[in-house]
Amino acid sequence: MNRRGFLAVTTGALTGTVLSACARQAPMDISGDSAVYGSPATVGRSSAPRPPASLPPLVAPTVQPPALPVTKGAIPVGTAITGIPVPGPYMAWTIDDGTDPDVVAAYAQLAEQTGNRLTFFLNGNQPSWTIHAHRLQPLVASGQIQLGNHTWSHPDLRALTTQGIQDQLQRNEDFIQATYGVSAKPFYRPPFGYVNAHVRSAAAAIGYTAPTLWYGSLSDSSVLTSDQVAAFGDQWFGAGRIVIAHANHPAVIGAMQHLVDLIAQRGLRTVTLRDVFQTT
Ligand SMILES: [Zn+2]
Repeated sequence: MNRRGFLAVTTGALTGTVLSACARQAPMDISGDSAVYGSPATVGRSSAPRPPASLPPLVAPTVQPPALPVTKGAIPVGTAITGIPVPGPYMAWTIDDGTDPDVVAAYAQLAEQTGNRLTFFLNGNQPSWTIHAHRLQPLVASGQIQLGNHTWSHPDLRALTTQGIQDQLQRNEDFIQATYGVSAKPFYRPPFGYVNAHVRSAAAAIGYTAPTLWYGSLSDSSVLTSDQVAAFGDQWFGAGRIVIAHANHPAVIGAMQHLVDLIAQRGLRTVTLRDVFQTT
């Protein structure tokens, strides 16, 4: 069991069966959050200027998705969010980081063409979020896309002082407000899923009261094939789930039509965190 998978699954009271499933799902090198930050060569390649990819259009499913929930659940106190708090066919598709602008653009297209509701946990130091701000702004304004705080530059928050933790979250909050005109509060995703009582306390003191982890991963923080990403969707997309994905590597683009179809075939409705959690 790798450390991040362990942290993610032990945060919620999950069963041993699921624990072992997660262990198989998430070996150290392809597990949930981004390993890209440990690899300067990968960072350099991902952030190098290149022409925008031309994306094949997505076909929206013909079946109408289930309606959005009419009730919301409370944000848990003293622990992290790992699942949807209301019953029903709801799944949160959450996408982190944003090291590849083409993948961010592909997710914007997915939202525009299929109506799926997405939550981005973005790092403002990634140019993607400025490059594509004009395209994302109307989706953010309508609530179809929610922006969550993943810190400015993706450090392990446990290694920082209270001030350091707050600076990372506040700088990203300021970027999100300046670029998109919204606040990300109270939702934040600690980089690598690393969170402890000190991090929670420091974050809560500036309004970030909802550390948000996940339960299920497309495992695309590392380079996979599109078929592998699609297969992780088959494994993890389901009712009640918060699934983590990454806007870091283009393989997910080739899996998007499959993932969109999968949501429809399973009768799921994608939701943002604000759709299902009370925030006032
Ligand atoms: Zn991340």
